[in-house]
Amino acid sequence: MHIHEFQEMMRYLYIHRDSDRGLKGTYDWLVEEVEELGEALKGEDNEATQREFADVIAWLASLANIVGIDLEKAAIEKYRNVCPKCEKAPCQCEF
Ligand SMILES: [Zn+2]
Repeated sequence: MHIHEFQEMMRYLYIHRDSDRGLKGTYDWLVEEVEELGEALKGEDNEATQREFADVIAWLASLANIVGIDLEKAAIEKYRNVCPKCEKAPCQCEF
């Protein structure tokens, strides 16, 4: 499954609920899921961490659906096998 297909699946499953919740509510959910991922990363439960990663990408896809952004297109257009900043692969940006 590609990112685009995952996003379309999320649209099929949740667009009615995502539309009702709206942009702000869905963004707030994404932020909360990122925070839960942060908490999971502090622990040692790899399965719980995996579930939080799943929630983050799911809510990111929902948010993208609301604003009409194709995540796969956005990601591939920006990250074309090189770092978008230094244009090298691997990245050679200085910290
Ligand atoms: Zn770079």
